[in-house]
Amino acid sequence: MTDLSAIIADIVAEMADAPERGKVADYIPPLATVDPMKFGIAVIEADGTCHLAGDADEPFSIQSVAKVFGLTLALGSVGDQVWKRVGREPSGTAFNSIVQLETERGIPRNPFINAGAIVIADILLGRRQPSEAIAETLRFVRALAGEDGIYIDDGVAADEQRTGFRNKALANYMRAFDNIVHDVDQVLGVYFHQCALAMSCRQLALTGRYLMSGGRNPETGHSIVSANRARRINALMMTCGHYDGSGEFAFRVGLPGKSGVGGGILAVAPGKASIAVWSPGLNERGNSQLGTLALERLVQRTGWSVFEPL
Ligand code: GLN
Repeated sequence: MTDLSAIIADIVAEMADAPERGKVADYIPPLATVDPMKFGIAVIEADGTCHLAGDADEPFSIQSVAKVFGLTLALGSVGDQVWKRVGREPSGTAFNSIVQLETERGIPRNPFINAGAIVIADILLGRRQPSEAIAETLRFVRALAGEDGIYIDDGVAADEQRTGFRNKALANYMRAFDNIVHDVDQVLGVYFHQCALAMSCRQLALTGRYLMSGGRNPETGHSIVSANRARRINALMMTCGHYDGSGEFAFRVGLPGKSGVGGGILAVAPGKASIAVWSPGLNERGNSQLGTLALERLVQRTGWSVFEPL
């Protein structure tokens, strides 16, 4: 067993005893019924070595972690045109907040809050049918991970649709500013299916490899995005990936990271590792309570913070 395997095995043991696990999302039954004791972690090093511990092979709803892959696809499709419709500043507000859209005339602060990801879904829809845009997203993450087992949970997507009144409000409000150009229901269909991607920590860490290695799949050497673009996506993950908890995440962990309300976090140690953690209980900002703590401990023990002197 290498050191890293020992470190993450220790972290899993520590998390099993944690007194404060946070609160599992309860707005839809498939999330509300997840066992709060679940905990998984996967670390894939730059040389491809994969370390797994806990429930690292169990699929969970990646939810807003998928916003990273949506943004990557949209940048590939329309390039820097994306930035005419979405900003690059932290919002300092909740993930589903609407307030800034009024003064900022329908332009969301960043692509990692719901409003921003809905605009990205509008871009991904392009001239296609929603089913084609959804299929493209699924194909993309499967190709990044090199795993055909990744799927979209249609039950989760249907529940998102049924309960997503805030997301519908965001989309309609941005439509009023002409920053949503397609049929609102179709755009939301793309967004909700993206949220419903189910992946294990291992699959999520595999998918995130291009962000640790300058935009390339380290296994095949294929370029997914340019090195410059990978750097910028990482910068946005660091500044905006945890909503109004992004400052706290940078302070405690010091890595680009993206959270989801299913309790997953994808974190990137550039040049070193792609990391996925999953613990369903959330803190008051909607980010995984123990996922954050586990990453904080991993970074303390590996020295992987991007703020560590080389
Ligand atoms: N499906 C959730 C929503 O749209 C995703 C939010 C999240 O993961 N933070 O509200």
